[in-house]
Amino acid sequence: KFIVFEGIDGSGKTTQLNLLADDLRSRGFAVLNTREPGGTRVGELIREILLDPAYGELVPRAEALLYAAARAQHVAQVILPALREGRIVLCDRFLDSSLAYQGFGRGIEVGLLERINEPATDGLAPDLTIILDSGIEDGMDRISLSGRDADRIEREARAFHRKVRSGYLELAARDPSRYSVVNANRPVGQVYADVLRAVEEILNA
Ligand code: ATP
Ligand code: C5P
Ligand code: MG
Repeated sequence: KFIVFEGIDGSGKTTQLNLLADDLRSRGFAVLNTREPGGTRVGELIREILLDPAYGELVPRAEALLYAAARAQHVAQVILPALREGRIVLCDRFLDSSLAYQGFGRGIEVGLLERINEPATDGLAPDLTIILDSGIEDGMDRISLSGRDADRIEREARAFHRKVRSGYLELAARDPSRYSVVNANRPVGQVYADVLRAVEEILNA
């Protein structure tokens, strides 16, 4: 099974993914925990270019292609091999991040993004996508509370992040059977209870 966590910056993706990974491992599942952009040596290098505020000149289509390139490497080198071995793959962001950020956020046509991602995903689609739905302010507050510096994209205006958030909700509305939208503006444990319920549904299916 291939399970993806999506949501705006600071919505709690990494926190929830780690809780789920520990939980599934303690139940005896073989779990691979990975992330985008990144997850491979090449992907981590591409991630550095994408997130470094020094590369502010990056144009949206070049940005979208870099995410797709990192994804192609990640799918081929890490995700597909793990799925073939029967592992549960938990991925922090996937194609929907490109549709939400570069599409709804930056205004690139979603159809074009789907086309440039065809060679990247190689036909792979998540069995379940969990969208952690959080208010823009809450996400940003959590990032500043965590003490780390905001990356190039987190420094975008609030209007950008609002478009990304509503983009995610639009994607989920298109195909509700593949998504679980979870209210992320609650304590970690309450959010996790909903995450686990959605995951158990597909594991028992
Ligand atoms: P990013 O997109 O920046 O990677 P993320 O979606 O992975 O963010 P996390 O890193 O999991 O989010 O969480 C951001 C910060 O908010 C962390 O400091 C985390 O401890 C805290 N946090 C996560 N979930 C909650 C929650 N439900 N309530 C309050 N704080 C939370
Ligand atoms: O979630 P994580 O912090 O690892 O994401 C890295 C950064 O890349 C975030 O600022 C996120 O907004 C951005 N991103 C993006 N487009 C994608 C994937 C991630 O702008 N397709
Ligand atoms: Mg994270």
